[in-house]
Amino acid sequence: MFDKPAFAGHESVHHVFDEKTGLRAIIAIHSTARGPAAGGCRMWNYATSDEAFTDVLRLSEGMSYKNAMADLPLGGGKAVIWGNSKTGKTPDLFRALGRAIESLNGKYWSAEDVGVSVHDMAYAAEETKYVSGLSTGKAASGDPSPVTAKGVFLGLKATALRAFGTDDLNGRRIAVQGVGHVGGYLCGHLAKVGAKLTITDVNPETLDQVAKATGATVVAPGDIYDIDADIFSPNALGAVINPETLPRLKTKVVAGGANNQLATPEMGDRLREKGILYAPDYVINGGGIINVAAEISGTYDPAWVEAKVQRLVQTLGEVLDEARSQNRSTNRVADEQARRRLVAIR
Ligand code: NAD
Repeated sequence: MFDKPAFAGHESVHHVFDEKTGLRAIIAIHSTARGPAAGGCRMWNYATSDEAFTDVLRLSEGMSYKNAMADLPLGGGKAVIWGNSKTGKTPDLFRALGRAIESLNGKYWSAEDVGVSVHDMAYAAEETKYVSGLSTGKAASGDPSPVTAKGVFLGLKATALRAFGTDDLNGRRIAVQGVGHVGGYLCGHLAKVGAKLTITDVNPETLDQVAKATGATVVAPGDIYDIDADIFSPNALGAVINPETLPRLKTKVVAGGANNQLATPEMGDRLREKGILYAPDYVINGGGIINVAAEISGTYDPAWVEAKVQRLVQTLGEVLDEARSQNRSTNRVADEQARRRLVAIR
């Protein structure tokens, strides 16, 4: 474990096995320098335990960076449950997860992530108070995706300003990949200001709904990379900027809400060389964790959330400007700034 490259910088990793429920989980705590480590719990049918381990390590480090760039009093952590989220969920499984989280005495705060719903986390919350993103409770913040989408919309405008000299999106051609929670709300904002949308999704129902609501043109999932547009906005999967897709992109900007958009950091360098301005994902999509942080603080204050999102957009602008003035890739500058912020703030 200690010699695994992805482990570097982590404070601790906790392996959890509960014989009665069959829970196999890993909780990784990357940093608590800024505050308790916060990050969701993912349930995924990993091929091997090593794959689960690598995933949780990468995700928890990413949360440290995201929380730091959003200027939250939170460190970074993540949990993964090794199992099938369609067939393997039981209330007791999540109660066992809740007990494991409780045993860390507040060092780690969880929430939902891929494969885990608000409903599942409510069972974990029966056993621990260190769960957020709930739909009930004193400071419940509910679904974070509208706030994520608002932050992505504002961040997209800040990126457009630097790429095109104006943040007016009226008539701007934008190709949107994934119109689920975040992508759907984002398309609503974009359509309202007159952007010309081309959208895709693997779910035909969602796609149809968003197309009807926004007047967007629909294309097949595999064709979205070839669209002659100004902006490409990934809001579905990770690693969508890779050696296969990158040569196909015709846009001047990549800016969207999806996590881990670059297959490798080098892809950020290739984007820059191609003249494409990339909005680092964990900066532009930090609105959701800001919303969750409000719940963790114990009082949900919408004005605080709004102010934090506005500040995050400013931070994104600062990253883009620093990258331009130093002739460096935006993801490298963001990583450097995030690492600099991983220090005690209280
Ligand atoms: P979601 O599941 O609601 O939406 C994702 C959409 O992408 C779905 O409609 C799905 O059908 C579609 N999709 C999947 N594979 C696709 C493909 N190959 N091509 C086109 N479409 C495809 O999820 P979400 O909550 O909207 O999250 C979207 C992305 O944003 C994820 O990467 C997530 O990690 C990231 N993110 C979400 C939040 C949030 O607040 N929900 C916050 C930060 C980051």
